[in-house]
Amino acid sequence: MNGGAPSVTRRLRQRLHRLISRLAERVAPPKRPSAGSRDADLVRTQYRESERQFRALLESLPMVAIQGYDRDWRVIYWNDASTRLYGYTPEEAHGRPLQDLIIPPEMREWTDEAHRAWLEHDRGIPSGELELRHRNGDPVAVYSHHVMLNEHTDDPVMFCVDVDLSEQKRAYRQLDFATRFDRLTHLLNRHGFEEDLDGALAECRRQGTSLVLVYLDIDHFSEVNEALGYNQGDRLLVELAHRLSSNRRAGDLLARISSDEFVMAFPGIRDRDSIQRLVQKVEEAMRAPFPLGGRSMRLTACLGVATFPDNGETGRELIRNADLAKGRAKLDEEARVVYFSQQLHDEMIHRHRLMDRLERGLEEGEFVLYYQPQVSASTGRIPNLEALLRWIPADGSSMSPSEFIPLAERSDLIHRIGDWVIEEACRQRAAWRDAGLGLQRIDINFSGRQMRKADLLPRFRASVERHGLNPEDIGIELTENVLIDSDEETLAALRDLRHRGFHIGIDDFGTGYSSLSYLKHFPVTSLKIDQSFVSDAPRWPEDRAIMEAAVFIGHRLGLEVVAEGVETREHLDLVREMQIDLVQGFHFFRPMPAAEVESLLTATGRRIGGLSS
Ligand code: C2E
Ligand code: MG
Ligand code: MG
Repeated sequence: MNGGAPSVTRRLRQRLHRLISRLAERVAPPKRPSAGSRDADLVRTQYRESERQFRALLESLPMVAIQGYDRDWRVIYWNDASTRLYGYTPEEAHGRPLQDLIIPPEMREWTDEAHRAWLEHDRGIPSGELELRHRNGDPVAVYSHHVMLNEHTDDPVMFCVDVDLSEQKRAYRQLDFATRFDRLTHLLNRHGFEEDLDGALAECRRQGTSLVLVYLDIDHFSEVNEALGYNQGDRLLVELAHRLSSNRRAGDLLARISSDEFVMAFPGIRDRDSIQRLVQKVEEAMRAPFPLGGRSMRLTACLGVATFPDNGETGRELIRNADLAKGRAKLDEEARVVYFSQQLHDEMIHRHRLMDRLERGLEEGEFVLYYQPQVSASTGRIPNLEALLRWIPADGSSMSPSEFIPLAERSDLIHRIGDWVIEEACRQRAAWRDAGLGLQRIDINFSGRQMRKADLLPRFRASVERHGLNPEDIGIELTENVLIDSDEETLAALRDLRHRGFHIGIDDFGTGYSSLSYLKHFPVTSLKIDQSFVSDAPRWPEDRAIMEAAVFIGHRLGLEVVAEGVETREHLDLVREMQIDLVQGFHFFRPMPAAEVESLLTATGRRIGGLSS
């Protein structure tokens, strides 16, 4: 019964104490005026006045219910607040025993005992929180203080001073709800889940059973929110909560622990097969389409699974490991469910450290742009440069962008890196323009994840303008898969760029979807044939045939054709034979720092040997 917030009870107790001491002074048997006293009348008048004041005091306490009882615990006093609290009028209450009025059946024995102890041993009833009973049968939570008077006489009385605790109880229940439950779905929240999970684990330990913890993360939930509004996002979460809670066994736990993440714990598992069955049951909840914004939408989720005792001893450890496994599932395009393992743990820790170092590297200026010249196959001049990112960590060996870009793509870091690249390339292009360096364009690379951010292209354009550059000064490169995966909005933004005179190239052409027919749908200005074709074409007629076809169609569509990975004289002869426009590769230049580009381009009238026609 002592579940209330302790500080509330303590304050109440102090206030009641003050009240009771005043009450006791008033109720204590008055000194009867002695007969024959000269001032008897005066004393009697004072006594009556005192009595009247006391009654007025009792009546005027609207929140404090006071009842008086005689030696048989029959009501002798009942104030208005008691009527409000317990439902009986003073007339109804008078003369009736306490036990018949407000004592619930389960407290009878206790009160009888207390009554006996009072009468026979002068033992008072301790104060405390009680749950008494209203006339209509409802429970009434009170803090009850008992004052015993005239103990050593034949006429003992007891006064109960009860303070209604229902408000506090309600507030406490609300507080408890807010700290343990999720307001939207009414499922447990992380805190409540952790508390209950520890209890479930203790039970599993006692019974020698296992527990399976499944972590579920909805894919692209933020996109649902952005596209359909938060109301629809909320509806989706409530619907999923509903699906996950249906046909749950008693003892299974379910919680929403962050915006689009749910966890479930299934205790009492005795065999391995049930683990898989339970995971399938969770997957099942995502299968049916969700009714959203007037239509039905299919959604997917990633699941991470950890089991007790194999993957963790405590609730926190299990949640963390299932979360880690879920994170692995997110990274993998294929896997929808990942089971935690130690190897996975080590791999993720390594990845995590690397991400931290990458992030620090960006903040501490460890990134630089290198530039690789593109040489005109006909004139031998260098019209363009491709900007290629380099990370040169102060504390160790550098890492290739083909390793760290995919890593950065798994978080928002890619956007910060992308912003840095745009800014740095624009700054450098403007500086070279101001220095009068003969150069047409710097091309920068955009990855798939970067392109999925709606404001990338507008921000890119704004950056170009801010540096006072023209659209012809900075181009972009995208792989064919990125183009194919683009939604209508992105394609429209690309068309807009193209219209304004920006150069858009298809990178690594031939390695992706590779259908020539789609070329006409995309607003591109050039295609860059992947280096694997260049290296294989001298030996493999099929590669050569594909390359020739690509060059032919590219030219027919009015596109500029570039060959990358030209490493040898043999490659060069081949690409010249095919009438490729621009040549990029180690045969001429490796990617180089800006200073080297400057000396290269300031060598006046520089033409690359063997290419001038
Ligand atoms: P990519 O855009 O296809 O870049 C061409 C890659 O081929 C570069 O590797 C370049 O150094 C390399 N390369 C150039 N000529 C030759 C050659 O003759 N032989 C060989 N074997 N390789 C040659 P790098 O610089 O390591 O970049 C790898 C990839 O990383 C790039 O492929 C691009 O997809 C990505 N990347 C580089 N910088 C950025 C960037 O700033 N942003 C984004 N999103 N991705 C970038
Ligand atoms: Mg490129
Ligand atoms: Mg490439």
